[in-house]
Amino acid sequence: MRRSERALKAIVMREFGGPEVLRVEDVPRPTPGPGEVLVQVRAVSVNRTLDLRVRSGRYERGATLPHVLGADPSGVIAELGPHVRRGIGERVTVSSHVRCGTCGYCRAGEDADCTGSESIGVQRWGGYAEYVAVPERNAYAIADALSFAEATVIGRHFPAAFNLAAKGEVKAGHWVLVMGAAGGLGSAGVQVATHLGANVIAAAGSDERVAAAVALGARAGVNYRRQDLTEEVRRITGGRGVDVVFENISDAGLWPKAFASLAPHGRLVTMGSHGGGQVTLDVARLYLNRLRIIGAAGANRRDIERALRDAAGGTFRPLIDRVMPLVAAAEAHRLLEDGATLGKVILDPTR
Ligand SMILES: [Zn+2]
Repeated sequence: MRRSERALKAIVMREFGGPEVLRVEDVPRPTPGPGEVLVQVRAVSVNRTLDLRVRSGRYERGATLPHVLGADPSGVIAELGPHVRRGIGERVTVSSHVRCGTCGYCRAGEDADCTGSESIGVQRWGGYAEYVAVPERNAYAIADALSFAEATVIGRHFPAAFNLAAKGEVKAGHWVLVMGAAGGLGSAGVQVATHLGANVIAAAGSDERVAAAVALGARAGVNYRRQDLTEEVRRITGGRGVDVVFENISDAGLWPKAFASLAPHGRLVTMGSHGGGQVTLDVARLYLNRLRIIGAAGANRRDIERALRDAAGGTFRPLIDRVMPLVAAAEAHRLLEDGATLGKVILDPTR
């Protein structure tokens, strides 16, 4: 296609596979439909599950080709669809969850539990592009205090951490063990649980990552590749164990250790399975200690609004490893696959 006024650069996947399937192309600039806005993208994050796994073709709710990744673009509203009343130039971050809007959960305001939803960047073209058209409801206004990169990281993980905390019934004074505590969701979990008044134990796979997570407000840290996780948690909590485990790895070796760290009546809340997804369960421990395992995904509108509001007030510190140009998307995916990052990698199409 001839590059024209209405063309834009995007990272288009025409096959599933390694990072090399991410290629720069000129594609037609979309026209926002009814209820949609066109966002000029200034930041979009690179995620293990929603980007690397979708790219590989191994995601359970896969994309159809050709496809453009990118779940959480932030940027400015550049164009309005019919009947949409938003300001051109408004700074926004986009939530990936496009809800059905009609099920009982959506109508009750518990839209995180809608199972009829689609995700921007998975079932719809996402933000690995100069422009993306999204439903106006998905574009949340952001405060000037937040950079586009920060807003993207806040919107990606902190609302989900609020949802997990609510599902796990985290209260002030509780002990909460956060797994993968220096990762995107983990580092949000550390900060949200601390913000709610809980005592957090940050668990991660290297001393450097433990230190990074403890610096976000955790009471204690455990390196679960070097120390016995269950024993350490018992020692830190005076033999009692934790009220809540924030799990998001699903590693066959670590999951039972985290589960065994729960005090009686404890809850393990989980979202994420990049560590494998197949684990063994000590069923006797489950019922004898009256434990609960709770699956959650995504976030409610109220969680997104709260996370963005609290972040604008300086409550949260999003971990950002680096910002790269959009055309370096394949390189960014390789960095994540190599485990060489601490914090989020952000792509910026204006660089
Ligand atoms: Zn629904």
